[in-house]
Amino acid sequence: MNIFGSGRFLSHRGKVETEMVGPVSISGESLFSNRWVKAIGIVLACGVASELVYFAYKRIKRMCCDNAVRNNDQKQFVEEVLFFPDAQIACKEFFVGDGCRRLNCRFTHEHNSLSRLYTFLADAKQSLDVCVFVICCADLGDLLVTAHKNNVRVRVICDDEQIDITGSQIWRLRKEGIPVRTDNSSYLMHHKFVVIDGTHLLTGSFNWTRQAISGNQENLVALRNMRIVSQFSSEFEKLWKEFDPKRYNESSLHRYEDLPVS
Ligand SMILES: [Zn+2]
Repeated sequence: MNIFGSGRFLSHRGKVETEMVGPVSISGESLFSNRWVKAIGIVLACGVASELVYFAYKRIKRMCCDNAVRNNDQKQFVEEVLFFPDAQIACKEFFVGDGCRRLNCRFTHEHNSLSRLYTFLADAKQSLDVCVFVICCADLGDLLVTAHKNNVRVRVICDDEQIDITGSQIWRLRKEGIPVRTDNSSYLMHHKFVVIDGTHLLTGSFNWTRQAISGNQENLVALRNMRIVSQFSSEFEKLWKEFDPKRYNESSLHRYEDLPVS
């Protein structure tokens, strides 16, 4: 293909002058291949751009949905009953952490009983008095540690025979500085209740284990009836004193004897 071009030269008068030169020859094959390169480049650029737009759209859409779910879950403490098992484990980071950053989170971001339990515990402002037979769930242990670090007074009572079982959170809690007391008895410390800020209560059959969350039939009642809550508070205080290791020799609650055969 030929096209015309121009050139510059120094005339005999010492001036720079312009004259038409050419025709300039550019091969048709070269121009053709340049066009193809451009076309492919444009297609690739469009493809990448559309991927980026789609990725951003998905991300924004998910953030909007997540915020809606989180906001809805942060409602005030209400009296309700939670039933377990949950079909999926709730994502702790999503409901009470800094937000879930996993693109493919294997935990659910949908409301369920565990997500409510997370919220109840994370909402504690002053105190968490936990009196539960067994504590093996690391996510719930995390919430106690976080509360303790946020200057919430956390106290834990559990059964002495459960503190060394696989997954037990008790030694970890103690290491973090959370006081844990146990019975010292062949009988069981079989309660499952939590008093939150001295004003709210969680009680039921629910132990703090993964099996209770995702396998067992369990219930947990959330109450703020002060008449009931104060009775549980008193029971906690009574056990806290009785389970003081200094009193192991004098308390009637610490005893080892042959249990009756059922
Ligand atoms: Zn998540």
